[in-house]
Amino acid sequence: MSDAHDKREQELFFTVASVWREERVSCPHPDILKAYLAAGLDAEASEFVKFHLEESECPYCNAVLEDLRANEDDARNEELEGVRSRLLRSTVTALRRVSGE
Ligand SMILES: [Zn+2]
Repeated sequence: MSDAHDKREQELFFTVASVWREERVSCPHPDILKAYLAAGLDAEASEFVKFHLEESECPYCNAVLEDLRANEDDARNEELEGVRSRLLRSTVTALRRVSGE
């Protein structure tokens, strides 16, 4: 067995636990979750959020994250819809022009 490995794990655990206590937060702010989603956090912060979401399985933050993801998808879909309907309109206009002659 490697003692060094065990020690490292204990240190990691201690770090996470003390950050937790020091910050006195049960949940990261939604803006933090947003930044996490956009990969805008530094490694340490994103580890913390990841731990909170995946190890602690916080239902609140996972729901917030779901919402943020859904909103992003909506925005993307709306954009796509806009392009599609513009394309469709110009195609229809072009077809009318052709058939009208
Ligand atoms: Zn949470």
